[in-house]
Amino acid sequence: MKVGKCFHRKILNPCSLEAHNYQVDPYIGCEHFCRYCYALNKAETDWEKEILIHENFIKRLTEAISSLDPQDIYMGMNSDPYQPSERTFKQTRKALDVFAKRGFSVSLLTKSGLVTRDIDLFAKMPKSSVGVSLAFQKEQTRHLFEKNAPSNKERIEALKRLKGAGIKTYTLICPVMPFVTNVESLIELVAPYSDKIWIYKLEMESTEAQNWQNVESILNQNFPELTEKYRKIAFSGDYPYWRRLRQRLEEIQSKKYLNLRIEL
Ligand code: SF4
Repeated sequence: MKVGKCFHRKILNPCSLEAHNYQVDPYIGCEHFCRYCYALNKAETDWEKEILIHENFIKRLTEAISSLDPQDIYMGMNSDPYQPSERTFKQTRKALDVFAKRGFSVSLLTKSGLVTRDIDLFAKMPKSSVGVSLAFQKEQTRHLFEKNAPSNKERIEALKRLKGAGIKTYTLICPVMPFVTNVESLIELVAPYSDKIWIYKLEMESTEAQNWQNVESILNQNFPELTEKYRKIAFSGDYPYWRRLRQRLEEIQSKKYLNLRIEL
């Protein structure tokens, strides 16, 4: 993997997620290269070959937050903070250290067990929460859509260790792939280790978008009977498939007293 330098991107960016003003991506591009990833639509490099890191990242991050009141910063919006290059470059660990020393906290999302390396820093920021994302129950299917990312087993083990260390945890079941993702079975798997479970549907911007092209090609090769259905469901926010699933999950939520956030 080639790791180039990026000089022009802002370090601290506005964040549209609830309760967050800002987000930071320590890497530009993501080696996990999930084929459905929305960030692929704006990729600057071929993620199978090259990602970028910010030049003078820590100095610029420190400057960028110097005028802010301590607050929660989101990490993991457009790239995984614990993709393989983090073992070498430690951009994420260095950023967490800056946040911890200045009284900030983070909400961080990853697919990698490497996140447990930094439990010491999360513990210094008690308002922080750390999550993993999952979308498939079968390893074989997962491999089709996100073959460069760590296994579910590794992610769930990480959740378990984080929770055991007293860190607030969450799981993001995302994207729910119609007729493929078994949301209920994933909820059962992660519920013991997750303080909160978010559920987001597969949602595509346009048929020209890179992530749709990838998903369509995987469907054509492996689930040809689903391609046409996806063309309807993935581009409609209120398709009956989503309404029925939402209803079912709301029933499970009230029956089992689960802390679900159903964004379907
Ligand atoms: S790990 Fe996240 S950011 Fe990276 S490719 Fe997968 S979905 Fe995109």
